[in-house]
Amino acid sequence: MDKAELTSAVKRRRTFAIISHPDAGKTTITEQLLLFGGVIRKAGTVKGKKSGQFAKSDWMDIEKKRGISVTSSVMQFDYQGKRINILDTPGHEDFSEDTYRTLMAVDSAVMVIDTAKGIEPQTKKLFKVCRMRGIPIFTFMNKLDRDGREPLDLLTELEELLDIEAYPMNWPIGMGRELKGLYDMHNQRVTLYHPTDEQHPYLPIDPDSGEIKGDHPLKQESIYQQALENVQLLSEAGNQFDPDKIAKGQQTPVFFGSALTNFGVKTFLESYLTYAPAPAAHKMRSGQDLSPTAPDFSGFVFKIQANMNPHHRDRIAFVRVCSGEFDQGMDVTLQRTQRKLRLSNSTEFMADSREAVKTAVAGDIVGLYDTGNFQIGDTIYTGKQPIEFPRLPQFTPELFVKVTAKNVMKQKSFHKGMKQLVQEGAIQLYRTYMTDDYILGAVGQLQFEVFQFRMKNEYHSDVVMEPMGAKIARWVDPDQLDEKMSSSRNLLVRDRQGAPLFLFENEFAERWFKQKYPDVKLTEKLSTD
Ligand code: GDP
Repeated sequence: MDKAELTSAVKRRRTFAIISHPDAGKTTITEQLLLFGGVIRKAGTVKGKKSGQFAKSDWMDIEKKRGISVTSSVMQFDYQGKRINILDTPGHEDFSEDTYRTLMAVDSAVMVIDTAKGIEPQTKKLFKVCRMRGIPIFTFMNKLDRDGREPLDLLTELEELLDIEAYPMNWPIGMGRELKGLYDMHNQRVTLYHPTDEQHPYLPIDPDSGEIKGDHPLKQESIYQQALENVQLLSEAGNQFDPDKIAKGQQTPVFFGSALTNFGVKTFLESYLTYAPAPAAHKMRSGQDLSPTAPDFSGFVFKIQANMNPHHRDRIAFVRVCSGEFDQGMDVTLQRTQRKLRLSNSTEFMADSREAVKTAVAGDIVGLYDTGNFQIGDTIYTGKQPIEFPRLPQFTPELFVKVTAKNVMKQKSFHKGMKQLVQEGAIQLYRTYMTDDYILGAVGQLQFEVFQFRMKNEYHSDVVMEPMGAKIARWVDPDQLDEKMSSSRNLLVRDRQGAPLFLFENEFAERWFKQKYPDVKLTEKLSTD
C-alpha cells in the first residue's frame, strides 16, 4: 500500500465495542449489524441461548458451543464503504479484566440500554472506563416494542447517573403495543413501525411545521401529537447537537429502537458511521503522538486468550493495529524484550469463520498465535524507530481467592504455572506478608475458573481455591507502612512488583483504618503509568 492507499484504508475503519448490562440486547443488535454487513444470513447464529443453559463451570463447553472465544471476539464487516470492527465485551457471567481492556482497543463505544430498566450497574462500570478514555459513546435505547419507561425520564437518568449530555437523534411515537414509529429529528423524517410498503417506511417532515408532510392517518393520533410536543420541547429546552462534544465523549447521541424487530437499527448504524471516528493518532509512552498512517507497523496486545483445545498449549494474542500495515509473515520487534519475532501465523476474526488475515491497518485487530512470547500491554513494531505504547491500566481486582496446590508433591509445576499464567497479566497475584501465601485477585469470577482449568490442563497442577470474597484493595506508601497496621479486617499483602497493599474486608474497615491512621495515604492505583 502506498501512503494514499493507507490513508484511505484507515479512514474507512470504524472500531467499536458494545457495552451493556446483560440482557439489554447486545447480542441481538450485534446480529442485526452483522446481517446488514452480510456476514451472517439469519439472526440467532452468533451465540446459542445464553446464561441459564450453561453453567459457569462449563466454560470450555461454552467456548466450544458458542464458538465465541475467537470467532466472535472480533467481528469485521463492510457497510457503505466503511470497514467495521466490533469487539465483543462479554457480559456478567464472563465479566473480567479482558472486558475492560477491550475498551482500550476501540475508538468508540455503543451503549445499549433496556428502556424498561434504564441504566444498570454493569453499564455504569463499563461506561466509566469509556469515560476515562474520552472516546465517543453512542446510545441505543432498546426494546421499544415493549412497554418501557418514559423517554424523557430515561434521558434524565442517563444524564444524571453518567454525567454526560444526552442528545436524542430520534424520538419514539408510542411504545410497546402502541409503537407507531420514530420521529427522526436528525434525518427529518418519520420512520413507520408498520409501513404499508416495506420498501418505503419513511415519511418526510415539513421543516417549517415539523409535521409529517401531506395527509397521513398517523397525524390524527394523540400518540403522534404527544411525540411532536416532546420533540418541540427538546428542540427549545434540550441540548444542542455538538459533534465536538461527541468526539470528546461529553455528549452522547441517543437513538431509540428495537433490536429484536430490527426497528431503528439501520438508521442507528448509518448515523453512527457518520459521526463515529476513524482511528486517530495513538499516544506513545513518550507522550508523542503516532499517526495511524505512519509507514512502520505498530500495535499493542490488549488481550491474551488460551487455546480452547487442551492438546495445543498455544494462545492467541489480540493485537490492535495502531499504525502502518500488518502483513502476514512480517518480522517485528517485541518492545519489552527487544527480540525479533516472525508473525507467520495470524488469524482474522469474523462472525462465523476464521480466515487468515493478509493485511490489516490501524483500527483492525489481528490475532497472533502465541507460544508464550506476549504479555498483555506489549508493543510490537517494525522499523528502526523504537515504539512503545503506554502500559494498559490495571483494573483494581474486586474478588480474591487463596490458592494452594492440592498435591504437595507437585509444588514445582504449581509454582511454574502460577508464575507463567500470572505473567499474561489477566489475573493479579499477591503474597501475604507473614506467610507468603498465594492470593489471586480478579475483576470477575470467571477468571478464577479459567485459571484453575489452565493450571490443570497446561501445568498438570490441581489447585485448591479458597474464596475470600470481595475486598477493597488499597496501596500504601512503603515509608508509611507499619506491619502492625494489619489486622484480620485489613490483610497486608505484596503485589507482583513488591508494592504493599491492604485488602480491606469492606468499606467500613477502610473507614475505620482511615480514622485510626489519618496520615497514611491509601491509593486505588488504577493505572500503572
Ligand atoms: P445481551 O445479554 O445484552 O446480549 O442480550 P440479548 O441480545 O441476548 O437479549 C436478551 C433478551 O432480550 C433476549 O431474549 C432477546 O430476544 C430480548 N431482546 C433483545 N432485544 C429486544 C427488543 O428490541 N425487544 C424485545 N422485546 N426483546 C428484545
